[in-house]
Amino acid sequence: MMTPQDVIDREDRFLAHNYHPLPVVLAKGDGVWVWDTEGNKYLDFLSAYSAVSAGHHNPRILKAMATQVEKLGVPSRAFYTDVLGEFAERLCQVTGMDRMLPMNTGAEAVETAIKAARRWGYRVKGIKDNKARIIVCNGNFHGRTTTIVGFSSDADYRAGFGPFSSGFDSIPFGDYDALERAITPDTCAFLVEPIQGEGGIIIPPDGYLRRAQELCRNQNVLLILDEIQTGLSRTGKDFCFQYEIDKPDGLTLGKALGGGVYPVSAFLARADVMDVFEPGSHGSTFGGNPIAAAIGLEALALIADDHYSQRSFELGEYLRGKLEALQSPLIREVRGKGLLIGMEIYTNQVSARSICEALKTRGVLCKETHETTIRFAPPLIITQEQIDWAVGEVADVLSSL
Ligand SMILES: *Cc1c(COP(=O)(O)O)cnc(C)c1O
Repeated sequence: MMTPQDVIDREDRFLAHNYHPLPVVLAKGDGVWVWDTEGNKYLDFLSAYSAVSAGHHNPRILKAMATQVEKLGVPSRAFYTDVLGEFAERLCQVTGMDRMLPMNTGAEAVETAIKAARRWGYRVKGIKDNKARIIVCNGNFHGRTTTIVGFSSDADYRAGFGPFSSGFDSIPFGDYDALERAITPDTCAFLVEPIQGEGGIIIPPDGYLRRAQELCRNQNVLLILDEIQTGLSRTGKDFCFQYEIDKPDGLTLGKALGGGVYPVSAFLARADVMDVFEPGSHGSTFGGNPIAAAIGLEALALIADDHYSQRSFELGEYLRGKLEALQSPLIREVRGKGLLIGMEIYTNQVSARSICEALKTRGVLCKETHETTIRFAPPLIITQEQIDWAVGEVADVLSSL
């Protein structure tokens, strides 16, 4: 029998060291709970960065997946399949978009958005060849491909990976005037997260998205929202943009779209944006395969049937209120929308990581982002009683440090 330490040592020996996991070896999951190899039980307060909104081992997701696997797996997009169109139609209905392009990971959806925006810039807006520019925000997180890290403002993400793709302009997040100044006739798109998740749960000022949309419309610039983390009920609405606008011009989704079991992502857009793609211009061997489509459809059905957005909104308010009431001298700020909540720590006294390690020993799993902020993003099926218990553990850990 291998001990947990043996398992950890083997990972350290044979895997690239591009993560720094908490020292817990998971073997099983069910709902909001996960178990380690020794049978210890933990509440999952991270849900794989929002990918597990429906909870671990969700019976409806597993059934949809199993049923589809039995029928047809990965035929490629060289052929039509009986489920992909239904998935696309449903996704267009709930987002208000005209068309979707299925991919697998979030970064691929963002890459797709970049390609669409540039082509739209040349073919529809009339920007001169190779001149198109995309505005992004400082502190962004859109994935890990070389193009995407090239416009990150985080040195850790970029260092040593250049030369990078040009054509991106970065401005402060939430700063309307900076956006106004940055737009030029060569700007094809503004790519932004409605709330910066990896950046530390950073919420822009009220009205930012609404004003940004107005400005983009007036300047013929596409507003492309990355809701890979904030979308699909995480922030208390089906999509975070619904707090301020009817719909963007382009939208990327991922994470929870895969029901916690499979990579499913998509770029959605207005018809005139998506129609810049013709056969041969873009693709993915696994993107939109029947298993992905069946799981995505079920993930969308769960959101509607089980009122995930309302749950997320109400339980998010509740959790945020309870965390704010802790009044620990270690807490600098609690912020968030729905069940995407950040607790920023005064790290001159204690590191966010050490709080996560202490919480782990008490059966609560969460992870720091950017050293100072602990993200609380439990599965959306969490109950009030489970929140009460977890906050009690947080309180005990904070007072013991
Ligand atoms: C996680 C994330 C991505 C990247 O998704 P991957 O599936 O890891 O490639 C992109 N954008 C945002 C906002 C994310 O949170």
